[in-house]
Amino acid sequence: MNFLIELKNVSVTYKNGVDALNDVSLKIKDGEFAFVVGESGAGKSTLIRLLTREVKADERADVKSVIKVNGFDLIKMKQRDVHKLRRTIGFVFQNFMLIDSMTVYDNVAFVLRCIDAPTKYIRKRVPQVIGLLGLQEKINRYPGELSGGEQQRVALARALVNNPQLIIADEPTGNLDPRTSVEIVKLLKEINDRGTTVLMVTHEHELVRRVGGRLINIRKGQISFDDLI
Ligand code: ADP
Repeated sequence: MNFLIELKNVSVTYKNGVDALNDVSLKIKDGEFAFVVGESGAGKSTLIRLLTREVKADERADVKSVIKVNGFDLIKMKQRDVHKLRRTIGFVFQNFMLIDSMTVYDNVAFVLRCIDAPTKYIRKRVPQVIGLLGLQEKINRYPGELSGGEQQRVALARALVNNPQLIIADEPTGNLDPRTSVEIVKLLKEINDRGTTVLMVTHEHELVRRVGGRLINIRKGQISFDDLI
């Protein structure tokens, strides 16, 4: 069994003493789609920041913690190698985080230019991913000329362009109306059907119920529910 995410006995205590995650264990298989829900302050963001190595797990002599993501061992990982991990993850955010002064094409191409991908590959790959998200007509538009749903589709294209093993979507529907939200989640499902593992943080229980799938509920720093719904 191939797990893309494996956490064992992981706790995170912030410097001010807040116990944000408390002895969490979690496994996510390659190819899964999982929702992460929980009240504000439950520990969802801390979990995401742990997976991207923005925060580190507590180190305790009596506990052997494990954090593995996309084949990387985050406990042993050196700071200078963190970018290698992050290149294997596509990120989607609530606020889209597009660059307003760049066209749709350039927003997506930017990711590949940053990693020095060959120009020939960029010219082929970028329109391909933009087409996959149904945005070919908007390829030369700027984010300010697009609807919220379209902007989030550009963000999905950007997350996908580098063929990540895992997509982390943090409240991707937080700024969208209910209909567009369903559309974005369906697109994430389609991306998942093509083999990319998806972890989506949301507080919209209704949306989760409508779409269904694996639901991980975090409560007071612990996993209080983890099952298919
Ligand atoms: P959620 O994303 O579910 O709202 P968080 O992971 O942001 O929850 O927060 C979990 C707990 O950790 C909360 O009590 C929050 O106040 C605290 N917390 C989050 N970030 C920090 C930080 N950088 N420093 C100190 N405490 C933090």
